[in-house]
Amino acid sequence: MAAALKVIVAGAGVLGLTSALALARAGARVVLTDPAQLGDNASGVAAGMLAPVFEAALDALAAPHFDLLMGARDLWPELARSTGVALDRSGALAIGRDERLERLEQALTRLGVRAERLSARAAAEKAPGLAAGEAGALFTGDDWRIDPDQALAALVEAAAEAGVEVRRAPLHPDEACDWRLLATGADPVPGGLAPELVRLEPIKGHILRAGSLRYQGAVVRGEGIYLTPGAGGMVIGASMERGASDRAVDPAQVERLAEAGRALFPALDGAQLAPGVGVRAGTPDGLPMVGFSRTAGVMMAAGARRNGWLLAPLVAKTVTALVFGAEPGPYAARMAPARFEPGGGAY
Ligand SMILES: Cc1cc2nc3c(=O)[nH]c(=O)nc-3n(C[C@H](O)[C@H](O)[C@H](O)COP(=O)(O)OP(=O)(O)OC[C@H]3O[C@@H](n4cnc5c(N)ncnc54)[C@H](O)[C@@H]3O)c2cc1C
Repeated sequence: MAAALKVIVAGAGVLGLTSALALARAGARVVLTDPAQLGDNASGVAAGMLAPVFEAALDALAAPHFDLLMGARDLWPELARSTGVALDRSGALAIGRDERLERLEQALTRLGVRAERLSARAAAEKAPGLAAGEAGALFTGDDWRIDPDQALAALVEAAAEAGVEVRRAPLHPDEACDWRLLATGADPVPGGLAPELVRLEPIKGHILRAGSLRYQGAVVRGEGIYLTPGAGGMVIGASMERGASDRAVDPAQVERLAEAGRALFPALDGAQLAPGVGVRAGTPDGLPMVGFSRTAGVMMAAGARRNGWLLAPLVAKTVTALVFGAEPGPYAARMAPARFEPGGGAY
């Protein structure tokens, strides 16, 4: 019998973890290595929205990739079922003045999605505690969420059960293996192993958690702000600070989010708000780089920008197909690292 392929995955954020799990389940011998504590990365700081609809409607870079975002989201029920990740399908509301809702409704129509128009009172029923005074809302049941802490813990456990060897150490570039998969987020990669990753841009993000406010309801998306439930209390997010890669808390960003949050949920007034900071990695077209490097034996899965949780099962499926020489599916070419190289994105 041929020996199993050995893959070393560097980075235990959501992209590394889901890829390690998928590779091990497909029969690879997998080492997952990361010097940081579980969750001490963008994946642990994130809000955990799985939001193809409002991401495509609200974010110009996501809009052309709605089909891909939906394809990723559709892989979540099976991943959640097989790992014990809790999937919250309460849906999401976009709120605001009539002009904003009309603009959003048009964007959704262009995507072929119909969202339900709700009165302010009906919106408050889906989002208990939402301030009166918003003109109304658009609701979709197609945007879901997970809780990053619970999900990371469940994914690590599932990976260990599937036989992944988890190490608390940085990637050792000389260890023998068939493939090295770099899932190192916005961090620089040792020894320039994958030159393609120089295209990644760090995008710092602040987020707040109100430990005393146990919010149950739909995700709420306002102008420049969102609020979600969370196991550690209501989550208020998030800034997008392009080019910044430090994790220092900026009081001005905290105050902006806190003020916007309190305007939408008066119960936040006086609540303790714990700030978190994470650094996303973004690419010029908003999609991650998933696939082969021009360095032999090296692959990458990085650059998922603000949708790493949403995209993770699709990234893992693509990586696994490529490692085993299988057909990587309809979205792989759009994520191929070579798409940014002169000559294009074919494998
Ligand atoms: C404030 C905020 C809110 C967000 N909200 C959402 C959301 O609601 N929904 C969503 O889908 N996405 C969201 N995102 C984006 C999402 O968090 C990221 O896209 C995703 O977490 C990226 O995962 P990753 O595995 O690529 O990187 P990371 O989670 O950053 O993990 C990279 C890991 O690589 C490790 N590493 C680095 N160098 C090495 C090395 N040499 N050897 C070994 N390991 C190494 C690091 O220690 C780290 O643990 C949000 C991000 C932020 C910052």
